[in-house]
Amino acid sequence: MREINFSKKTYYTVVWIIIAIMISGVFVDNPRIGKLEVGYITHCILVVILSICLLLYPKKSTNFLRITIIIVASIFFYTLFIFYPETFSTFIFLCLIPALSILYFDSRLFYFSLVFNFVSTTFIFLFIMVLDKGHLYPHIEQDLIGNFANFIVSQIIIYFIFYLMNVRIKKLQLYYEQIQQSERLKTTGQLSAAVAHEIRNPLTVVSGFLQLFKQDSTLSEEQKGHCTLMINELNTAEQVISQFLTLAKPDKEKVTEAVDVKLILQSVTDLLHSYGHIHDKSIELNVNGDCRISANHIEIKQLLINIIKNAIEASKMGDIIQVIAESEKNFVVIKVIDHGCGMTEEEIATLGTPFYSLKSKGTGLGMMICFSIVKKYKGKIEFQSSKGEGTTVTVRIPSI
Ligand code: ADP
Ligand code: MG
Repeated sequence: MREINFSKKTYYTVVWIIIAIMISGVFVDNPRIGKLEVGYITHCILVVILSICLLLYPKKSTNFLRITIIIVASIFFYTLFIFYPETFSTFIFLCLIPALSILYFDSRLFYFSLVFNFVSTTFIFLFIMVLDKGHLYPHIEQDLIGNFANFIVSQIIIYFIFYLMNVRIKKLQLYYEQIQQSERLKTTGQLSAAVAHEIRNPLTVVSGFLQLFKQDSTLSEEQKGHCTLMINELNTAEQVISQFLTLAKPDKEKVTEAVDVKLILQSVTDLLHSYGHIHDKSIELNVNGDCRISANHIEIKQLLINIIKNAIEASKMGDIIQVIAESEKNFVVIKVIDHGCGMTEEEIATLGTPFYSLKSKGTGLGMMICFSIVKKYKGKIEFQSSKGEGTTVTVRIPSI
């Protein structure tokens, strides 16, 4: 976005008005009219060049033409000031010169014209003070300091307008880039979700037939072992796909409701018991106070299942996993404490990276899902862990 966007029709209307005013400046009530003076001829030539450049610009929006317009317009303003000293208002044009480059939004050109204008106008003021002494420019000489101060203030104001516009445009650019990026991610996500979904069906069929083959009595023990290996591998692939699909599901399908963390925790612990994840390990559940949050209950269930499952998998036989939930100020705090293998600081830092898993049958997607769910509900997830001693996972989600 280099320049302020005009429709061509508006641009030409404005340009024709400007050309009409410039031409009337040459012919209407001009004191130099008819006299072949340098000033008057320069004035006429500049009006022609500037008009042609302005009319050409929409057809040839090149950098060269942009710079030419700004330079010719600046020279035109100086010409008016120098050759029509009796017209006081030409001084206003000098103040406005840097604003021309704002129209064509070019920062290098802007800074150049700001500095150049400052230097040349300072020389003009020095000329009026030392040589002219109010002969040609009495209106400026009468209050030289005041006029110069006003000129400086006008340049500062123009600089601020440019600076603020620049900041806003940069922010907008960043915003559009982010939107484009997230659109791209969304499309890729949807596409991969569709592919993943299609892969799941053939996997289930193959896995079913392998189970059948395995029961065939003519197969040797070695062949049955191979079948088991294949079934296990297919199960892992199926798990990766299911986890991935939970991530890719569109947000529209996930309604937010009041969720009682106590009920969810009870159902999660029951589920993990009945799925046989706990062999000789038990879960101790402790919920204090009213722990209600505003979320989607399926997502909160996914979050807690992933964390508690990891704790169970990290624990040794006979271990107890403690799950504590309590309400603290404006948050519901859930702690999952295990005394299992623990993690090093580097391992903790790697959590949430897709497919990072230290387990032979792990998918490495669980933590990524947890991070995205916690982030969605403006919560926090923390890990305290020491290798060989155990881990405490703390989740904080705003309560209602
Ligand atoms: P997965 O469980 O499929 O391996 P996760 O994303 O759930 O994937 O976890 C990633 C890794 O983080 C695990 O493989 C494990 O090494 C480590 N991890 C997660 N939770 C714990 C925990 N409570 N104790 C020890 N290690 C853990
Ligand atoms: Mg896991």
